[in-house]
Parts: sequence; structure tokens; C-alpha cells
Amino acid sequence: MNIEKVIAIDGPSGSGKSTMAKKLAKQLNIVFIDTGSMFRTLSIVLDRLSLKNSSDDQIESALKKINIEYMPNPKTLISVDGEDFTLAIREHHVSELASIYSQKIPVRNFLLQFQRELAQSRVCVMEGRDIGTVVFPNSFCKIFVTASSQVRAQRRLEQLAEKNPNENYNLAKIKEDVEARDKMDMEREVAPLKQAEDAILLDTSDMNEEEVLTFLIKTSHEKAKAAGIPL
Ligand code: C5P
Repeated sequence: MNIEKVIAIDGPSGSGKSTMAKKLAKQLNIVFIDTGSMFRTLSIVLDRLSLKNSSDDQIESALKKINIEYMPNPKTLISVDGEDFTLAIREHHVSELASIYSQKIPVRNFLLQFQRELAQSRVCVMEGRDIGTVVFPNSFCKIFVTASSQVRAQRRLEQLAEKNPNENYNLAKIKEDVEARDKMDMEREVAPLKQAEDAILLDTSDMNEEEVLTFLIKTSHEKAKAAGIPL
């Protein structure tokens, strides 16, 4: 078995995995790859072409025509055909759009290839829903980060309120959205959100950022040592 040099961090939305995976990569001085940003970007691009109810063939041919780039320059997280999507993908409505388009087989195949090429043979932290189960099933370190839906909704509300202080957000509605997204992600046929058998479960409901980061660093080092990977 060929061990893949990827630290795979999966889990539901709002579990804090993005923030923490980014900090982990920084601490370890390795590349951080946010796969949710890719699904978000493609969902906007495909939705502009009104492909929500189109056949797989139509979606596949649309994808063949686009050029997606991850971190093409230090200021841009992600672009398609030169258009910067870094900010647009963080709009609230894009979350739902991404959950819809991420169910499409051509979208998953396209990004599976893209993600594998991006990681190549370098050590990196890759964060998503199916990294440890599908994209890099032989990765040396897999962590499944979760938290209760109540805690995740509360964190989401705080993020939104920080961005738009004048807006009035409703916690119950956000919790509903979070649970609806979980359901879509867990019940889809291809690459559903689930913990890999050999992944370590980390429930962050009662943990602060420092505790989570300490755990991630310690686990990454232990796993790297066991696999003989310099970190
Ligand atoms: O992680 P983030 O919330 O940005 O992801 C947005 C959506 O993209 C998720 O709700 C999920 O539907 C999809 N996604 C996925 N597989 C990944 C990453 C994200 O299906 N590896």
C-alpha cells in the first residue's frame, strides 16, 4: 500500500475544521488545501449556466471548458478562467448551492482528479468531507472533526454577526440550515460525509481553539512518526 502524505481533515460544516486545519498547516509549515472552496466555486459557475437540473453529460461538457486554479497568486484562493471567487464563495446562499452541486457525479469526479493532482507528493493538510474516505484513502493521518449542531449553529451565527453586525440572525433558523446541509452531505449517493474507519474522531463541542490545535499538532506528529514521514 502506498501511504499518501496528506493530513486528511473531514467533518460537517461549522465543526471548526476549516479554521483549525488552516492553523495546523501554518504551524507545520505545509500547504493547506480547502476543498469546500472548490465545490463552492463550481456551484456558482455551473449555476450561472443554469445547470441545476441538467444531465451529467451536460455538466461534464461544461466542466471540460473551464480552467480552475487553486491559489494562482498570494491574494487569490481560487479562480475560474481568471475570475477571482475568493470572496463570492463565502456568501451565505452559496453554502446551499454547493451542497446541491456537490451531489453531481461529474462535479465530484472533476474535483477528485484536481485534488489528487494538487497534493501530488508533497505533505499537505487537505480539508473536506471525503478526503480520508475517497480522495486519499491511504493518507497517513485522518481526523474527523465534529461538534453538536447546536454548537455549530452558534459558531456560524457568531461568524455571520461579525461580518454583518447590523443584520439580525436567527439561531434556530441557522441550526435548521446546518442540519439540512448535514443531511444532504450524509445522504448523497457519491462520496457521502462519513468518518473513515481508520480516522480519529475529534468532538470539539466543549473544546476551545487552543485545545483543538494542540490535539491536531500532536496527532499529526505521532502519525507522521509512525508512517516514517518527516514533518
Ligand atoms: O466546507 P464547506 O462548507 O466550504 O463546503 C461546502 C459544501 O461543499 C459542503 O456542504 C459539501 O456539500 C461540499 N463539499 C463536499 N466535499 C468536500 C468539500 C465540500 O461535498 N470535500
